Formats: sequence, C-alpha cells, structure tokens
Amino acid sequence: MKNIVLIGPMGCGKSSIGVKTARRLSLEFIDMDRYIEQKSGMTIPRMFAEKGENFFRDMETRAATELAQKEGAVIATGGGVVLREENMGALGETGRVIFIERPLGDILNDVDIKDRPLLKGGAGKLSEIYSQRYGLYRGYADRVLYNGGTEQAAVNKLAEIIDIYGNPRFAVLGDPIEHSKSPEIHLPVLSDFLGEPRYEKMHVGVGGIPRYLDELKNLRGFNLTMPHKRDIIPYLSGMSREAELGGSVNTVVCRGGGGGRELFGYTTDGEGFFSALQSSGIPFEGKRLLILGSGGAARAIVFRACLFHDIKIGVLSRNSSAAEALESEILYKIPNTDIFADILSPEALESHAVETDILVNATPQGMTGVDSEWDSLDFIRALPRDGAVCDLIYSPAETEFLKVARGLGYKAINGLPMLIHQALVADELYLDMEIDRQFYFEKVSRVLNSGEGKN
Ligand code: NAP
Repeated sequence: MKNIVLIGPMGCGKSSIGVKTARRLSLEFIDMDRYIEQKSGMTIPRMFAEKGENFFRDMETRAATELAQKEGAVIATGGGVVLREENMGALGETGRVIFIERPLGDILNDVDIKDRPLLKGGAGKLSEIYSQRYGLYRGYADRVLYNGGTEQAAVNKLAEIIDIYGNPRFAVLGDPIEHSKSPEIHLPVLSDFLGEPRYEKMHVGVGGIPRYLDELKNLRGFNLTMPHKRDIIPYLSGMSREAELGGSVNTVVCRGGGGGRELFGYTTDGEGFFSALQSSGIPFEGKRLLILGSGGAARAIVFRACLFHDIKIGVLSRNSSAAEALESEILYKIPNTDIFADILSPEALESHAVETDILVNATPQGMTGVDSEWDSLDFIRALPRDGAVCDLIYSPAETEFLKVARGLGYKAINGLPMLIHQALVADELYLDMEIDRQFYFEKVSRVLNSGEGKN
C-alpha cells in the first residue's frame, strides 16, 4: 500500500489523528518533525535558533526523500513541508496526500504558541501563515479531510480513506451479467482517484449471495443488478432511508477493518434519473410526471420524487393492482404525496398524457432482445407542446417511443444519462467524497461512445 501523507498547518491534527488511526489499523506512524529531531539530535526550536530556518528546511527535504522510501506508513508532515516542490514531489510519488483542514478558530484555541519557532509574532502570525499556505495544501492534496468535529470522527474518517486507497476493488453482481456496462462506466471515474482499481463482473444466480458474502466483504463496494436488489437486504448492517423505503439496493459500501467488516446499502437509480433530467435541461420541480410501468426502476424514481422533490406523480401499469399497491405503499410511507395510479390502457394513456409534463417509459417495451412493442404510440401527441419524454431504455439508443416523441417535436432522452448518473452517485459513495459530476458524465459518455474500456 502507498504511504498516507498528512499535510496541513500546525494544530490541524495531523499527528494526533495520524497516530490514533495508524494504531487502529496496525500501520507504522511517523511524525516527520520528530524524525528530523532524532536524525539531527537537536530539537526544532533549537535548530531554528542556532542554525536558522534554511538549515531546518534542508533537513526537512532530506527527511521527505527518505520517508518517501517507506511503504504503507502514515506520515504526519510539518506545516511548512509544502513550501518546497521537491518535498511534495517525493512524498506524493509514493504516497496519497491528505490535507487535514481545520477551522482556524479551533487551531488557535489549541496551539501552544510558545513552542513554535515561526509563531513568535503571536496568533496573528498563524493566520497569516495559514492563508499564505492554504492554496498549497489544497493544490497538493489528493483529498481533503475536514476536521471540524471531534477527533474521533476525524480518526474514523481517515481510517475510511485509508481503507478506500488500500482496497480499491469493486464488482457488479447479477444474473445475467455478461451484458453489464458497469466496468466501463465506473473505471474511468474510480481510476482517476485510486490509481489502478479493479472492477469485476460476478455471475451470481438467484439465492447465491450467502456463498459470496466473505468475498464481497473484502471489496470496497459492489453494485447489484437483477435479481439481487432486494435479496441483499438481510445481509446489510444499515441502509439509506431511500433504499429502506423503496426496499431496493443497487450499491453496497463495505466498511470497517479486519473481520468486522459491515455492508451498507444505497439506491442510486432515483437520483440518477433526476440528475439525467437536469443535465439534459428538462426542468422537473413543480411538474407532473407520468410513469409507465411499476417495477423496480419506476419505484426508485417514485420514492426519490416523493422524498426529495415537489412533483405530482402518476403511475400506469398493465397490472392495475400493482400500480395501486405502489400508490398505497407510498401514501402509507410518505403521507400527503401527490400520487395517483391507473391501468395502462389506451384510454388512460390519452387522458393522463394531456396533463403530463414529463412522460417516462419504465417498461422494457422496445428494448433490444425484448419481444414486445407498443400497440400504438398515438397518445404521445396528447402531451402539452412543452412536454418532455424519457425512455429508460438505452439499448437501442433510440426506441420507437423516442423516435415518435422526437418526430412530434418533444424533447426526448434515452436511459443512458440516467445509467451514467446513477453510477456517478455510486462512485461518490465508494470514494466517500463529492466528484465533479459534469466532468465525469462527459468523460464516461466519451468512453461509452468510443467503445473504450470494454473488458
Ligand atoms: P421490472 O422491475 O421488471 O419492471 C418492469 C415493469 O414494466 C413492470 O411494471 C412490468 O409490469 C412492466 N411491463 C413489462 N412488460 C410490459 C409490457 N409488455 N407492457 C406493459 N408493461 C410491461 O424492470 P425495471 O428494473 O423496472 O426496468 C424497466 C426498464 O427500465 C427496463 O427496460 C430497464 O432496462 C430500464 N432501466 C434503465 C435504467 C437506467 O439506468 N437507464 C435503470 C433501471 C432500469 P408487470 O409487473 O405486470 O410485469
């Protein structure tokens, strides 16, 4: 494993958080200032007083070069290590650099100024140094750990970051699984943060999860597709509220060290759907959404809409009792939701389309390999002129449903933006950080369009 290099101003918690985390994970811990003192046989205040700052900086550069030879150590650096590019070049080459960002007020409360040679000018000097170096800390950091709460919270967070870097293995489980695009979608993102992550397709049939549980716990995380989105639930230690309400999980993050690893479940399809609308320029707040189908994808969208958005929802299903059951379940779990259910008939489609802003196909009709097409798509012309259409299917890229909608002049998108966005939400959960979603949406789209990244 690469070293973990902690940078940040004096008093940000590099040493105290670093030593506790290293102890918990049985990793070697090195405090760079103490290392320099041992090597020189002199305390740092004395070194500054007798030899001057330049001498100390040279010692620091030598220490950075030597410590960069380590493997898997947690290294707490001095606050000024970022002043020389060569220091960070050496440490960054063999380590992951974490900036421990702490509010200046908290630092000022804790730091004992009298032992710090650079703080002879008092507390004001510390703020001056912090603002001078802040850009360097940010610029050199692979990621930022915000230390604004308890020390224990920061230790937990650092332990999680080390786990992510030390264990960059992921998978997608399903049956069938051969067709899955998951590796092509996740790897272009994860590899930018984790060097050389692995992402495998695992063929796991119905009821197969228990046999793979130990193997799965050793991953950083995994995605689930048919038929496992519900079957995984008994093996989870916790779930997001959205996943719990919807009763479906498509992303699992494994946390905790050693044999005590636990699984936490999330659902990202709903957020992926609304991000897709947003990135396609389709407004949805305060709008009326009509969903055709009441299966897993429809449920994810409906629960997300009810929990996070102001949207009036209609669900049409060929099985009217399935749609009504979903309506009752939503009203029971999230009272006062604006939702109705109806049968998926030509008459209902015509009459509801008139009062719809966004029409969504969440049935597999029109999908490659599915032997079923719409009897008639005339109902699409009943949508208001500024209505939009979304088909969750992405293969083929243009279904008959979309072709007709576009032919009538409606804004229409396929399921690919949703597929990519739901994966980006999962990647943020895996990495435990926010990423630039627009940048990665474009990157993954390019990879998929060019056919790169297939394995
Ligand atoms: P699902 O759980 O099997 O649900 C399918 C729904 O469609 C059910 O309500 C089903 O009704 C209905 N249906 C099936 N065949 C039908 C037909 N011939 N006529 C009318 N209704 C029919 O599947 P899902 O996971 O929700 O997926 C639905 C579609 O969304 C699929 O095409 C899938 O590929 C796509 N999807 C896309 C994304 C993405 O990221 N773009 C994500 C998830 C799903 P019954 O209950 O009566 O069978």
